[in-house]
Amino acid sequence: MSSEKSTPLMRRRELIMGLAAGSVVPFMAGCAENAALGRSQLMLVSDGQLANLSAQAWQQSLQQERVLRDPAYNRRLQRVGERVVQASGQTQYDWEFVVFDNDTVNAWVLPNGKVGFYKGIMDMMVTDDHLATVMGHEVAHVAARHSAERASQQMAAQMGLGLLDALAQGQMGDAYDPDLAAALGAGVTFGVILPYSRQHEYEADRLGVDYMVRSQYDPRQAVDFWMAMSEQSQGHTAEFMSTHPSDDNRIAAMRAHMQSMNYV
Ligand SMILES: [Zn+2]
Repeated sequence: MSSEKSTPLMRRRELIMGLAAGSVVPFMAGCAENAALGRSQLMLVSDGQLANLSAQAWQQSLQQERVLRDPAYNRRLQRVGERVVQASGQTQYDWEFVVFDNDTVNAWVLPNGKVGFYKGIMDMMVTDDHLATVMGHEVAHVAARHSAERASQQMAAQMGLGLLDALAQGQMGDAYDPDLAAALGAGVTFGVILPYSRQHEYEADRLGVDYMVRSQYDPRQAVDFWMAMSEQSQGHTAEFMSTHPSDDNRIAAMRAHMQSMNYV
């Protein structure tokens, strides 16, 4: 397969087709209530579009990274992953848990429920509760539809209201600027694995801790784990920590949530 070469074009074409078919909704209609969060979100990306992009990103990861076959690592990730997913109620996705044979300290989840944990981060997880900390946090990003929201925010920023008006009125035609389409395509693609905003991190922390409690892991170990990660990452680059800075505010917010929910 020549997916490397054709992918950006395919994505662009997909997006334009989506726009033409009206599955990318105009700005004013593009808000959706998220039950997990209890707030509404800007939604300019359809679930179908995001699912397609996620599937592509997942295939690319499986091709580019070496998958670790060690049954102990895989069983562990599977065991914790399934428990947390059940507790989250996000069972509508086709969840898949894969360990990558790499010392990178990182983990991510795509919006279609494909989960990648690197050996490097798993080796830092002394207990399953530590693993559930990151799993809960990542599953929470999916439940909260953070990728779609982030991509939508980016699209809105890139496009401006004028263009969105044009889209709403179906004025796509030949006048559609291919550079802009490319920028839009890049924005959406990036949205699949885009670093989340601070607000998203706080929300994922809160929901993640809720999922830990529901799946009977110890939420106190979430605080321990984030603090340990923060210390470990001093002085060298940990991928995960560059997108998840464990500063005092974040830990304090997590503690406050745990107290308000009577978890501790
Ligand atoms: Zn996060």
